[in-house]
Order: sequence, then C-alpha cells, then structure tokens
Amino acid sequence: MTSETHTRLHPPRLTLEGCSFAYDEKSVLRDVDAVVESGEFLGIVGPNGAGKTTLLRLLSGQRAPASGRATSGDEALHAMPALKRARTIAVVPQSEAVMFPWPVYSFVMLGRHPHTRSLGFEGPGDHHAVEEAMAMVGITELASRKVTDLSGGELHRVLIARALAQDAPVLLLDEPNAHLDIRHQVELFELLSQLHGTGSRSIVIITHDLNLASTYCDRLLLMDDGRIAAHGAPRDVLREDLIARHFGVRVGIDEGERPHVRLLRPDGNS
Ligand code: ADP
Repeated sequence: MTSETHTRLHPPRLTLEGCSFAYDEKSVLRDVDAVVESGEFLGIVGPNGAGKTTLLRLLSGQRAPASGRATSGDEALHAMPALKRARTIAVVPQSEAVMFPWPVYSFVMLGRHPHTRSLGFEGPGDHHAVEEAMAMVGITELASRKVTDLSGGELHRVLIARALAQDAPVLLLDEPNAHLDIRHQVELFELLSQLHGTGSRSIVIITHDLNLASTYCDRLLLMDDGRIAAHGAPRDVLREDLIARHFGVRVGIDEGERPHVRLLRPDGNS
C-alpha cells in the first residue's frame, strides 16, 4: 500500500450558502450558493475579476464570508483547526512568492507538515509521499534544484507536487495550467483525472481553458460579477449565448456530451 491510499480521509461535501464577501469596500461575492460534492471534479470558469479566486479562498477556509456560511460537513471552514483543515484541503495557489532558496525536495516536503507535526520528524512514509508526488508531476530530476532558480512552469509543478504530498481528500487549484505548455497542461489534467478517478478525491480547478474544462470536469460553475451565472454539466454551461453574455466573445460550439468551443472573430468568421 502506498501513502497515496492509506492515510487519506473521505472527501467532505463543501457548501457555500448565501455567501457574500468584500475586500474593504469592494463587493466581490454576492449571495453565492455553491456545492462541491464529495469526490467530484468541478471546474470554475469565468472572466477576469469575476470572483473565482475569492470563491476558492472561501472553500479553502482562508477567508471567512462576510455573510452566509462556508462549511465542510457541519463545520465552518475558516474556523476549522489549522491542522485538520490542512489534512482535509490542499491548495495550489495561482502564484506564490518563493523567497528562500529551498531545494525542491525540501520544499515539497513542506506539504507533509500536517502529517509529520505530531512526531516532529519525517518518517519513511513522508519521503515516499514526496517522491511519489514529484514523480506524478514529472519533477523528480529537479529534486536538488533551488526553488528560486526555476522557470514559472517548473515552479508551478513544484507547487502542485507539494499539494499532492499533503495527501488531502480535497484538492483546490487556481489556474494551475496558466504557466504550462500544452503538453504539460494535458499531462496535468490527465493526472488530476487519474487522482479523481479513484473517487477518493474532490478536485476543484479554476481554469481559462474551456476545452480542457469541458473534456475533464464532471461539472462547471460559470462565475461573473461575483455571482454564479450558470452551473451544470459542460454542455449546459458552454453555450454560445452564455459565453457571449459573460465573456463578451463570439464562439461556435461543437455540440456533444463534452462540447468543444471554437473562437470566432467578432464578424463571425473563424
Ligand atoms: P478572479 O479570480 O475571477 O479573477 P478574484 O477573486 O481574484 O477574481 O478578484 C475579484 C475582484 O476582487 C477583483 O476586482 C480583484 O481586483 C479584487 N481582489 C482580489 N483579491 C483582492 C485583495 N486581496 N484585496 C483587494 N481586492 C482584491
């Protein structure tokens, strides 16, 4: 048995009920209701500034809603003890300022913190989990490189490996494919699909790639202006009218269970 399978909890259902949030005076989420079902692969799409990252911050417990409730089971997410939350939810942020020149291996080991803390030192299981996470995202050969010397794409894969090493049943990712070339994007979605395919992980991903979201996600949430504009199966969300209204672009849709979005020029030509 690997560390991938023996320590993880069952993914809890995450719920946002009537959640509003503002940074200072600026209202960013307005009366949002959303659910992440246990074990689902949920994509969050929407234009820049729609509130997607903020919604993820509520789901990770990093921020508390100004009104409404953000819960994991019956527990308020932001009030969960930090260790319990870290064992439940792993986050891959959009970016992270890395100041200290950690070797990649040690940096990924930071993801084991919620598991090693009670013992105070790393055991063979932790090393196994780190090696496995690094192998899964294809960064084994970067092990001794300094995190401060990596390209944007390499660093992003290191952040993903750290989250995988955390071995939490809920994985939240904020535009993880933004810095990746097309091969690494497909590899990432294949990896997420494989991790999710066991049914033992909930995955929530913010992405601007509507076709990758359509291909891999069970369900999509379309956000605009702090609200949920649409949600459902990819074919219910990736519609010409919804994309025109919320992204302000003309597209053609190749219909199907998993629709494919084609960009059109404003005059309607492809
Ligand atoms: P998205 O992820 O959809 O682009 P965000 O949730 O990042 O949207 O941002 C929604 C709005 O909140 C934007 O107008 C953004 O400028 C603002 N915002 C995001 N983070 C902060 C912050 N820490 N302080 C102040 N305003 C913020």
